[in-house]
Amino acid sequence: MDDPRQELADLAAAGLLRGLRPIDSPAGPRVVRDGRELWNFASNDYLGLANDPRLAEAFIEGIRNFGTGSTASRLVSGSLPPHRELESALAAAKGAEAALVFSSGFAVAAGSLPALAGKGDILIVDKLCHASLIDGARLSGATIRVFPHNDAAKLDRLLAKVRARQASARIIVVTESVFSMDGDLCPLREIVEIKERHGALLYLDEAHAFGVLGPGGMGLAAALGLQERVEFQMGTFSKAAGLAGGYLATSSAWRDLLVNRARTFIYSTAPPPALAKASLAALELIRSADGDRLRSALRANIDGVTPGHPSAIVPAIIGSNDAAIAASRELEERGFMIPAIRYPTVPRGSARLRLSLSAAHPPEAVVALREALTATSAAGLPADR
Ligand SMILES: *Cc1c(COP(=O)(O)O)cnc(C)c1O
Repeated sequence: MDDPRQELADLAAAGLLRGLRPIDSPAGPRVVRDGRELWNFASNDYLGLANDPRLAEAFIEGIRNFGTGSTASRLVSGSLPPHRELESALAAAKGAEAALVFSSGFAVAAGSLPALAGKGDILIVDKLCHASLIDGARLSGATIRVFPHNDAAKLDRLLAKVRARQASARIIVVTESVFSMDGDLCPLREIVEIKERHGALLYLDEAHAFGVLGPGGMGLAAALGLQERVEFQMGTFSKAAGLAGGYLATSSAWRDLLVNRARTFIYSTAPPPALAKASLAALELIRSADGDRLRSALRANIDGVTPGHPSAIVPAIIGSNDAAIAASRELEERGFMIPAIRYPTVPRGSARLRLSLSAAHPPEAVVALREALTATSAAGLPADR
């Protein structure tokens, strides 16, 4: 009863056992595993900033000026200049009144949703939302309703039904701008119109759009000019910004509520101030002409794999767990690190390879990737399906 080995054996029998596999180099576009160099198409470092010397310099400078740790929750030990500067810059960049930073994107979702909604409220969540949003929704105690992935018409009907029964309830629609395992975009314009028609609010996770989409890389809402109509704009510094940490951009009043209620903010030590310094440098870089150049290089790499695809995430859906793992192994033999993604990260029967492109990949890596995928029997790209 107290032995985990049976559970591990069950996972293995279902093709669902996971393990940590070492790499022996920095997490750059090329990594070393088992003594071999591999092209890394597994990371979310879409702009290649995780190894950018400018961010490293800002990080080190931040450590020199503010030390390594923030020592306590900001409510306890005070709100340091780097956190405040980052939040003002973020709010301005996202067209919001205010922003609040957390130690991770997961912490944003797990802390914010329970702060914004509770018993008697309703959260309407896209079926393919990230685990952090699902867990945040569950923790909130609100009623959770799920709509089929990106199905605006069904969302409209569901909202109408819920609103008819609960005239004055707080209803929040929760979705993502770029879905993390499919790389597709939500129909944001339609969703904004629908939620407004039914008097609901919108919580949009831009984790994979921040840095990548829109003017200055400010995301899908920015790309469509909808920032002011999205009440909660969430994002993370752990993907295109090459660092770690998450944020929520919103109104000042909602931010004040988060400071009072978001347990992952209140009961967790603030991220290192030096990280906030590096995050500010990343935000500035992302919004600069250099950021535009990196996004063009990323765009060219995406087009080199599957022309016109809307994001840096390209799924190659395979189906069975074992076949996905075999395809991932085969590609590793050919010199590529590309993860097999299985249940519960994706629905059962839709195990896949998840390729992620970066501005840091040289064109020859993308050409080689295409060839390797063609040679790998099981791996069809979306453009080929
Ligand atoms: C990665 C991710 C998160 C969590 O962000 P971290 O900063 O890695 O904790 C949240 N939402 C989505 C959609 C993500 O892909």
